[in-house]
Amino acid sequence: MYKNLRVVPQLIFGRGALAQLGDVLSKRRTDSGSPVVFLIDDVHETKPWVRTLPVRANDLIIFVSAEHEPKTRYVDELTARVRDFSNRLPDALIGIGGGTTMDLAKAVSLMLTNPGSAADYQGWDLVKYPGIYKIGIPTLAGTGAEVSRTTVLTGPVRKLGINSDYTPFDQILMDADLVADAPRDQRFYTAMDSYIHAAESLRGTFINEFARGFAEKSQDLCREVFLGQLPDRVADEKLMVASYLGGLSIAYSQVGVCHALSYGLSFVLGTRHGVGNCVVFDQIEEFYPDDVREFRQMVARHNIPLPRDLCAQLTDAQLDEMVRVALSLGPLWENALGPDWQQQMTPARCRELYRRM
Ligand code: NAD
Ligand code: ZN
Repeated sequence: MYKNLRVVPQLIFGRGALAQLGDVLSKRRTDSGSPVVFLIDDVHETKPWVRTLPVRANDLIIFVSAEHEPKTRYVDELTARVRDFSNRLPDALIGIGGGTTMDLAKAVSLMLTNPGSAADYQGWDLVKYPGIYKIGIPTLAGTGAEVSRTTVLTGPVRKLGINSDYTPFDQILMDADLVADAPRDQRFYTAMDSYIHAAESLRGTFINEFARGFAEKSQDLCREVFLGQLPDRVADEKLMVASYLGGLSIAYSQVGVCHALSYGLSFVLGTRHGVGNCVVFDQIEEFYPDDVREFRQMVARHNIPLPRDLCAQLTDAQLDEMVRVALSLGPLWENALGPDWQQQMTPARCRELYRRM
């Protein structure tokens, strides 16, 4: 059976597009006194554009912390705050920030209409009811969270997304002005997420011509940006497109070895996704030889620091936990290595890979 892919139905792309948010919202606002909820990465709290947002008197703005990647507990907390604010469901919920904030927004939208804790829905197609109408506005380019059908959460026992047809945003707004002031290293780590999404999609066993088309273009754009000579303004726009295309590519294929190992790192050490991916990718040339070599050229050209020896001091129990989390991600390994992946990627081999990082 072929996947019946749900995509984000509406998008606006262009510098200054944030100014169109009011128009988009005016079509969603009812006159029932329901609020519109804005979840905004608190790094932006003092940015001038925040004061231009189309906020009305009974709306709710929450500045969320992206200091740690999203936890199911934090999603539950935010959902409770929105419920406490009004006895009506919001007309719309907007997430403005990097992958962390967009994922929080997607998850809170779902949890406002589904009972229980966000942890109950980590997995595939467990969500029962559509969420609140939601809009994603990225301020970093690379994760593809703006387009994907998942929201990646760390819960009590696993780091795993809420993957469902109800998860994608209803609308996205891609405004390159909003990514312009991202710190250089963070911009690179997050951009490499899209490069790695594309690499894992292209070299995986689930690859098909549909996913390949997006992945190849996504990698080309990253190459132009990090191995070419482009002004930042042009580069930022290209990275936004690379992120979107990389996200679409894995939506119709799957990620692979790097993401599986990176999820383990992040679960045990709290390593952020972008930097964790870079640490892992640098060590897995045996799986993605050409891509890893090109990645290293980009790292060298931009003088990007890659943390080393993250696993050197780990206890056996921590390493075991990392291996457990990584190997629990069957579909990722199957994409990377084929149906007999368990024969190839034994716990001992997985442990040995971590030992290099
Ligand atoms: P992020 O959202 O975690 O942000 C990283 C840091 O950059 C934070 O400190 C944040 O405050 C800051 N930041 C964000 N935008 C900024 C800006 N314009 N200027 C200055 N600082 C800014 O980073 P990310 O790499 O975009 O997202 C990583 C998260 O995305 C992880 O939680 C990962 O699991 C998730 N993810 C989700 C998907 C998906 O499909 N849903 C895919 C890949 C990754
Ligand atoms: Zn990723």
